[in-house]
Amino acid sequence: MTPVMDPIPGHSSRFKPFLPFMLGLSLLVPGVSRGATAEQPAPPQEEEGEDPAYKERPWKWNEAEERKVGEVEKAVKKEGNFFVFESAHWLVRTEVSARFTAELACFMDLYYEKLHAVLGLPPKPKIPQKPTVQIFAQQKDYAAIFNDNSRGHYRYLFDGPTGRVKELCLYSFIIRPEERDFARFYYQILLHEGTHLLLRTHLGKERIPVFLDEGIATYFQFWDLRASREENLSKRYSRSFYRYTLQALQKKDYPSLEGYMALKPEAWNPDKMGMKALTNYALGESFIETLLTQPEAKGLFEKILTGLLDPNAKEKFGRAEIDKSQTLWHAQLDKLVLSLNPKTEVTPPESKDPKPAGR
Ligand SMILES: [Zn+2]
Repeated sequence: MTPVMDPIPGHSSRFKPFLPFMLGLSLLVPGVSRGATAEQPAPPQEEEGEDPAYKERPWKWNEAEERKVGEVEKAVKKEGNFFVFESAHWLVRTEVSARFTAELACFMDLYYEKLHAVLGLPPKPKIPQKPTVQIFAQQKDYAAIFNDNSRGHYRYLFDGPTGRVKELCLYSFIIRPEERDFARFYYQILLHEGTHLLLRTHLGKERIPVFLDEGIATYFQFWDLRASREENLSKRYSRSFYRYTLQALQKKDYPSLEGYMALKPEAWNPDKMGMKALTNYALGESFIETLLTQPEAKGLFEKILTGLLDPNAKEKFGRAEIDKSQTLWHAQLDKLVLSLNPKTEVTPPESKDPKPAGR
């Protein structure tokens, strides 16, 4: 059994209702609703050149943005160890510097606007409170909360009786001294965790399958904030490094979409960001990429998003969409695996309706 077949524990064919059922399901935790993600092991420290995500470095501001950063910097306040600023869309807290805090605030606001535009998210989120971004100056302070070798986390907590948000926060930290200059900070972690957070502000307490949540976050982790949607859709592929973990994938291992949609959050990262977890991220990423870039997939991503954000929506991602999406996804995996293993001939699909693996 290969790693990609493993992460579907508990999946069985009796799971019938699928997304329309899942999307309307609130978290069944009495009193509080909570969730968190741990992910993104620190990128290699010695071999930056090998990480495609670093090609975009350093982050640069244009003149108008530079002026704005300067104004924000003057308004940053100090609260204990933290430099604090409330931007248009975020509460920003860092232990780094007023300058870093100002740049982070401007970056997160830029990201907020871009993601809302690209996804067509409603202007008013279900959760009115601004999410927090908190950057520790040292890994040990971060590790005191999340001791799992992760690079970033987002965490949310609802108070049951009032429904108010008690926590909605993105956490990360400075890992190399040069990251204290925001231009050198690993900002892809902000895009990944920020996507989770912004989706959560629109989901409220609604459940989202971990496969979709991580797939969307991983896809937008590598979104170029300076490029147009069209440029991103055509070039983003080369910016991600996750897909290399799919090199070991064999055609017979392609997972069923239904199985992955039913995956429990606790099963997402079974090996502390080992190959199983990285393969899950790569599969999620490839699925979202399929929906956003394949002409035949037109409208499918919108249907998923609509169903997630509005449980009463009439147009849902149902059985027909699942079957169609899986066919397109598996076809894309064929191309991907072939491009990663150019000497290996991938058997073309026998029919347009491949049988899900592991069933
Ligand atoms: Zn994530």
